[in-house]
Amino acid sequence: VRYAEGKGWYDARVEARAPIPMDPASAVLHYAQEIFEGLKAYHTADGGVSMFRPDANARRFNLSADRMSMPALPEAVFLDSLRELITIDRDWIPTGEDGSLYLRPFMYASEVFLGVRPAREYLYVVIASPVGAYFSGGIKPVTVWVSPDYTRAAPGGTGAAKCGGNYAASLAAQAEAIEAGCDQVVFLDAVEQKYIDELGGMNIFFVFDDGTLVTPPLTGTILPGITRESVITLARDAGHEVVERPISFDEWRAGAESGRIRETFACGTAAVITPIGEARFPSGAFTVGGGASGEVTMSLRQQLVDIQRGSAPDTHGWIHKIA
Ligand code: PMP
Repeated sequence: VRYAEGKGWYDARVEARAPIPMDPASAVLHYAQEIFEGLKAYHTADGGVSMFRPDANARRFNLSADRMSMPALPEAVFLDSLRELITIDRDWIPTGEDGSLYLRPFMYASEVFLGVRPAREYLYVVIASPVGAYFSGGIKPVTVWVSPDYTRAAPGGTGAAKCGGNYAASLAAQAEAIEAGCDQVVFLDAVEQKYIDELGGMNIFFVFDDGTLVTPPLTGTILPGITRESVITLARDAGHEVVERPISFDEWRAGAESGRIRETFACGTAAVITPIGEARFPSGAFTVGGGASGEVTMSLRQQLVDIQRGSAPDTHGWIHKIA
């Protein structure tokens, strides 16, 4: 679907996947006006096809658009574009229990000009790709790297938007994590380099010994994860207290060492919920919950997966059936 100032959205179409011709002066190539979303379509227990909370992705897409001075996309256009593509690509949705069709809606400034101002023309596109299980051979706790050199987002910046630039800025930190033998990077806040923000592509939760869950608050520097919000709801349903408050690296470390913090997990669309078993930083390392997958973590994971796959009731209206 195309957008031009004064004209609005027009020219919606489905085409076979092919390169998009682009002028070298296309605004996105120079000033990075680009946003995206990520969600999945999958087969459910009743033989149908569903998506998980695509309306939440549509809302977040428009929050990202607003932050990047881009036009809002009507929620109905966002949802229809996904439904239409899934219907056409139905045969490409993997049938295995963990397989799904990954959907990547994105929008970028297509206007041809050089100059720093919001573009007046945009292109909204959705591509789809079949994906298998995130963890082959079962879920194993991951090791994370607490980056001493890089932060992800400063107050007033674009941290809460899902824009490509945020990920470009996080690549060096992720490379540092891999070099340190870790799976993912944990970012600390940009002001004091003290409080935990999130992982490279996931939000983070801490399970305390009294059953309370703590997760960093949405202060504009972390992505408002849809899995994060779903986990908060499910944990409260299960009787846990959930507190959104700043938690420092020192509190995490001391809590993990004393046993006051029993479990730590990360969550996001790609892997749903992932236990974190160990944290490394330049001068040391510590394990969480003895490096094993925690009980609360695995129970929340199972509840979420069961709702997504249709083997538990969808009491919150999260499942959008396609067919
Ligand atoms: N934080 C970042 C930086 C991410 O890229 C993602 C993945 N979209 C998340 C958190 C988790 O968000 P969600 O649960 O909506 O996938």
